[in-house]
Amino acid sequence: MSEKIIIIGGGPAGYTAGIYAARGNLAPLVFEGFMAGGIPGGQLMTTGAVENFPGFEKGIDGQQLMATMRQQALNMGCRILTEDIEKIMLDKNPFEVLGAESGLYQSQTLVVATGAAAKRLPLPSERKLWGKGLSACAVCDGALPMFRNKPLAVIGGGDSAIEEALHLSHFGSKVYLIHRRDSFRASHIMRARAQEHPKIEILWNKTVEEFLGESAVSGLRLRDTVSGALTTLEVAGAFEAIGHRPNTALVKGQLELDEDGYVITKAGSTETSRHGVFAAGDVQDKKFRQAITSAASGCMAAIEAGRFLQETP
Ligand code: NAP
Repeated sequence: MSEKIIIIGGGPAGYTAGIYAARGNLAPLVFEGFMAGGIPGGQLMTTGAVENFPGFEKGIDGQQLMATMRQQALNMGCRILTEDIEKIMLDKNPFEVLGAESGLYQSQTLVVATGAAAKRLPLPSERKLWGKGLSACAVCDGALPMFRNKPLAVIGGGDSAIEEALHLSHFGSKVYLIHRRDSFRASHIMRARAQEHPKIEILWNKTVEEFLGESAVSGLRLRDTVSGALTTLEVAGAFEAIGHRPNTALVKGQLELDEDGYVITKAGSTETSRHGVFAAGDVQDKKFRQAITSAASGCMAAIEAGRFLQETP
């Protein structure tokens, strides 16, 4: 039997699409993904306090926000499967979706809300030391004993990098914020927080040449992007915060993507290049990438899928 709507993704976009689709009597099936997006539950699972999602006057923990959205989707009547999708076949009518465990599904509409994952530096030492003092998530790993009262490093100059540095300042003796340029990409308020923090030292114009250490991170080899000079910085942990890549492997070659791999949607809409397929959240948004904009586009996708079903014989 063909589903009316399958939603792929268990972040704010996916769950919100589920809530709206359930309330629109579309009996949605949501695949919240297991590991394909980097982490089950999306990027908010690795975020600490979320202070800018309306409705929570004192802010809310990222994991708690996701758990609440998920429960709301279930309460509204969504079916949620924790399972990665292996393949989507958009040339079929109805569309076909292959679950890694439960097999083949058919659906008249699809919402792609697969999010984005953290980028990583392409260094052999990065692969070697991954999980051994090297991470892309301070909120997940920062409290580990190996980082307590030790000097730590964060790489990047955006809001995520500063957020990671602020979080790590609770655990490390000092946090070096290493940025490849001489000005931050991050917002004003975050910049000020980093610059005024007594435990954070900003190292401008530096790139990481190598992560040092055998069984665990012991330091970084840095290159000055202006003078070219190489220096060694002793740290017990390093956290990469250099941006994100959209999770579009499932739809590559089937939907139009932009030069950075994000799904192209029509202005003011979640419509993709394929009728009946809608994209919501970070997989189609490299500009805002906020929980609230993600949720909003999930709402739009469910409403547009409902209208498509009404209009398509
Ligand atoms: P981002 O804004 O894209 O910043 C990525 C940073 O990493 C940039 O400073 C970039 O340097 C640097 N970078 C990229 N590739 C690099 C490489 N190969 N080597 C060294 N450095 C590299 O990503 P983000 O910080 O994850 O933020 C993404 C979005 O989420 C933004 O819209 C942000 O505002 C939002 N966000 C908001 C909050 C908040 O409001 N609390 C928290 C986190 C994220 P350049 O600057 O030189 O390009």
